[in-house]
Amino acid sequence: MGNIEPNILERLRTAKRVVVLSGAGLSAESGIPTFRDATSSLWSNVDPMVVASLDGFERDPERVWAWHEEVRKTFAGARPNAGHEGIALLEMLLQPATVQVITQNVDGFHQEAGSGKVLEIHGTTRRVRCHRRCGYVANWVGDVPRKCPICAAQVRPDVVWFGESLDGMLFEVAEEAAEAADVFFVVGTSGVVQPAAGLATLAKNSGALVVVVNPFETPHSVIADHAVRESASDFFPSLCKAVRSMRLRQVR
Ligand SMILES: [Zn+2]
Repeated sequence: MGNIEPNILERLRTAKRVVVLSGAGLSAESGIPTFRDATSSLWSNVDPMVVASLDGFERDPERVWAWHEEVRKTFAGARPNAGHEGIALLEMLLQPATVQVITQNVDGFHQEAGSGKVLEIHGTTRRVRCHRRCGYVANWVGDVPRKCPICAAQVRPDVVWFGESLDGMLFEVAEEAAEAADVFFVVGTSGVVQPAAGLATLAKNSGALVVVVNPFETPHSVIADHAVRESASDFFPSLCKAVRSMRLRQVR
């Protein structure tokens, strides 16, 4: 664990709005395989275009349901890691400033770790919804109906699949948060998945300090004010410690 760059602390001291954009790399630290990880059992024997796409669902919904059940089992066997927990703790430590999480992950780990403001721009496997979007949404607990109780269209996992666009309204909220951010963390995301990748650029152009936290070099590192080559589970606990001692100094 390294020391925290003083400039990051200084900006956090005066920040009113902090945003954390998270992606698959964060959940990988909990043992969740990313879909680029062909060695994982979750992705090795399947074609994402069959099990996680709009076409796939229209052709064989049961296959898609079965695969999502597998995904949910994998999530259920894993826990939020020190990165998720550090981000949730940061929200408490920085009050009255806000910490808005924008995540590409669909596992619900940010909420489980205690984050209060989470925008799940790729949806969540903890909910199902009407495929026709009539308004029916339900928690995915146990057996869920396959037919919408309101309009009789198909019910589906509430995640964004390949071939689908993000929820426009949700994404607008994410863009507004990025524009208003004083400090913008990019955590465990390669920066190649659009349109989420544009959020960091938006934040940067609106004057935010952009901090990329990733053990690997990412395209985001180019626009980063600080590129921290650490895992989130190393960085965020260190950051929280530093913020805490900064606050203690302020009190004295
Ligand atoms: Zn419906």
